Amino acid sequence: MKISGSIKETRDQVKEWKNQGLSVALVPTMGYLHDGHKSLMERARKENDKVVVSIFVNPMQFGPGEDYDSYPRDLERDAGLCEEAGVDWIFHPEVEEMYGPNFCGYVDMHTLPEKLCGASRPVHFRGVQTVVSKLFHIIPAQRAYFGQKDAQQLAIIRRMVIDLDFDIEIVGCPIVREADGLAKSSRNTYLSAEERAQAVILNQSLEVAMALIEGGETDAGKVKAAITEKLNTCSAARIDYVEIVSFDNIQPIQKVEGAVLIAIAVYIGTTRLIDNRIIL
Ligand code: AMP
Repeated sequence: MKISGSIKETRDQVKEWKNQGLSVALVPTMGYLHDGHKSLMERARKENDKVVVSIFVNPMQFGPGEDYDSYPRDLERDAGLCEEAGVDWIFHPEVEEMYGPNFCGYVDMHTLPEKLCGASRPVHFRGVQTVVSKLFHIIPAQRAYFGQKDAQQLAIIRRMVIDLDFDIEIVGCPIVREADGLAKSSRNTYLSAEERAQAVILNQSLEVAMALIEGGETDAGKVKAAITEKLNTCSAARIDYVEIVSFDNIQPIQKVEGAVLIAIAVYIGTTRLIDNRIIL
């Protein structure tokens, strides 16, 4: 396994693999890898000849006052986990390699980024789309693997690939959870022991929603109210949003039918966590 910070070297290697007739997968990450990331790598490993993981904490997708500086980083540990997962190449650029001195090109979109995380993080998805577009150009893989943990991101990337004709297949992978149901996240490391115990409320509130829906409830307002009520039983939880939207266009819906995304963002102490259920 090789680690490279060079766009040219990485692109040349991927082109060479493709010239040899090998299939190449890309798994974009911000590092501080956990079993959620590993599940993406393992799926990529099974379905492709070569696996490239990008590790880049992308400053463009963090707003002012967000956790760009404190975001956890540990390349050595990440490299070990990638090696275990059978990764062939880590692309780990410096910020200067990705964003040169006169950088001013952005990829943006209407509608899909406006609600949910885009409402509380206004520059986030522009940063995500821009960096993912760059990664797709640097690493012209046949397939790229994304987690359903970031469901709005997945919907936006799928839309972007269709609208801008990227020649890449987007593979969505299920959320990997801790034993008590908390979705794995690099940001879970911010939680104190007490907060960590309370953070289980996110998944529990979504369980309440699913039980209602499985029992025949289709009124999105009632399901949202039940999630909110459950979250409010936790003293450490402060709701950013509880939304039920169409998974196709991320717009609010009144009735739970078709492809539906139930998405929540909740502060536990000062740490903002997200979780969701997708009903297809
Ligand atoms: P990040 O490093 O947080 O940007 O995440 C990189 C990729 O890993 C994204 O596609 C995430 O959706 C995915 N991911 C993060 N956490 C999980 C998880 N718990 N289960 C599945 N995929 C995940």
